[in-house]
Amino acid sequence: MDTKELKIDWLYRLKKRMLFSLLGVLTVAIMVTMIFIAVNLRDTLVNDSKLKTHELAVTINSNLHHLMILRAPEAIQATLENIVEENESVIQATILNSQGSVTYSSDPSQIGRIYDRYEEGSCSVCHTRSGTEPEFDAVVLATDQETHRNISLIDNEKDCYDCHDPAKETIGKLIIDRSLESTYSLIQEIQLILIGAGVVCLIILVPLCSRLLLKGINKYILEIFTRNEELRLLYVMVERLSETLDMVLLKEIVIEIFKDILNADEVTLILARGEKEFSCSEWTRESDKVERKNITEDNGLNQILQDWLNGGLEKAKVSEGSKCLFMPIEKGGQRLALVFAKKKGNSFDMERLKLCSVISGHIAVAFDNARLYYIAITDELTKTFTRRHFRQCIDQTFIEYQQDGHKFALLMMDLDKFKQVNDTHGHVVGDAVLKQVGDIIHSSMRENDLVFRYGGEEFAVILPNTGEKGARYVAERIRSTTQAAVFKTGAIELKLTVSIGIETCPEAPSIHDLIVVADQALYAAKRQGRNQVVLADDSHKKSRRENVQPEEPL
Ligand code: GH3
Ligand code: MG
Ligand code: MG
Repeated sequence: MDTKELKIDWLYRLKKRMLFSLLGVLTVAIMVTMIFIAVNLRDTLVNDSKLKTHELAVTINSNLHHLMILRAPEAIQATLENIVEENESVIQATILNSQGSVTYSSDPSQIGRIYDRYEEGSCSVCHTRSGTEPEFDAVVLATDQETHRNISLIDNEKDCYDCHDPAKETIGKLIIDRSLESTYSLIQEIQLILIGAGVVCLIILVPLCSRLLLKGINKYILEIFTRNEELRLLYVMVERLSETLDMVLLKEIVIEIFKDILNADEVTLILARGEKEFSCSEWTRESDKVERKNITEDNGLNQILQDWLNGGLEKAKVSEGSKCLFMPIEKGGQRLALVFAKKKGNSFDMERLKLCSVISGHIAVAFDNARLYYIAITDELTKTFTRRHFRQCIDQTFIEYQQDGHKFALLMMDLDKFKQVNDTHGHVVGDAVLKQVGDIIHSSMRENDLVFRYGGEEFAVILPNTGEKGARYVAERIRSTTQAAVFKTGAIELKLTVSIGIETCPEAPSIHDLIVVADQALYAAKRQGRNQVVLADDSHKKSRRENVQPEEPL
């Protein structure tokens, strides 16, 4: 299991729990619904059956009423028999007289039989044990629960009193016994259908629901994971951006960020170094190196740059089917940098492009901070670092030497008879010359070497990973280039030389010794006639160190 799986494992466990709970609830809900439907349906059907029995009794009752007036006993008997024949569910139709004796019945063998209400359990529902007459027409359930018995009173006309006891207006009772068998079998069938439907639901609906749910939940888990990843990435990138204020390192970090987020094959960074000055760095998958690149018409970078400067690239732009990205890095309307990323295979992921837009704001802040820091540590005239920064750099280089054992060298330089330049041509010309000297020193060194304006016309150079031989070589190059150069300021042309003193580490045991001895070597060069490089040797260091006063704090 990789880390990605581990990270989202808890989400999948949560998903399982949620799914099982949901399916459990769904199953119980289906069951309860089925039972509820079954019970309610049963009651409704039984009640419906009762109603039908009652309706039948009312119809028969009115027919019998007429037949009795007509005094047609055969017709009455035939009516009762027909009822049983025509209605499958009717078991028996009976007419009792006031004494409880069967006068007519669909089953002729019952005629003459006396109904004893104490024996007939169903009769007790309407009658009381005290033997009163029933007070209402009623539908009662027979004891075996399989039949309905409807008892209704037959209201006779006065004409009937010849036949019946005139003391009582109501003298007859119609009893209809109806079977509930068909109703119960219908109920059973419906219950079976409901159970079947429930089982089908559980077999088909539940797995279907679970599949749909799974799909949905998986989508959300992936979404959560993606967002989480993006946030993590954003956090990592912002942290990387805040690691340094060094413009060179920052450029590499920014290129790496675009390379990592977009999985790009090419990343180019054009950085504004002033109003009209731009530097360009490029990384390609083939070289896997960040290299300087010229902005030319041929490679199309000049066109991109012009578009950006003319306001044609206010926002990030993708082209060539989302395989090329142009991302301007700006802060408060100030154009700081332009990133151009390219992919050869698939197009860029849209979510990752959005992430780049979010990060571009942080990159702008980082570039702006680095720019301000650069201004703070750079001498405006000579574009070399300040003396304050020299202290930080020499400390850092010495710490690295103590940790890794990498030797390094320090050059201290002073222009020869520079006062004469000022005295002869003025400070403006002197300043212009100092600027050109800064350019000469820069052009004589490697990228990692550091140049500082140590004093008015004094410069210091730290050469990392350099021993005595290498330091002498660089110093000699600066000296000879300065000597060969013609310093032009308007119509004025000047010649100038420089004296250089060298000390190296580990020969110097401390930073203090390093600076003092290099300075002493410089003054030895002055004493020896100027325009020369002097390397502090051991005897020189020893004799000089005895007279060294601690350096004043910078
Ligand atoms: P030396 O060969 O002994 O070094 O002779 P020098 O005339 O160069 O003597 P020093 O190094 O003492 O001279 C420093 C002079 O550099 C003094 C000042 O006129 C000049 N200087 C220092 N800072 C600046 C600056 O910022 N601009 C200009 N134009 N001149 C400066
Ligand atoms: Mg000086
Ligand atoms: Mg000088």
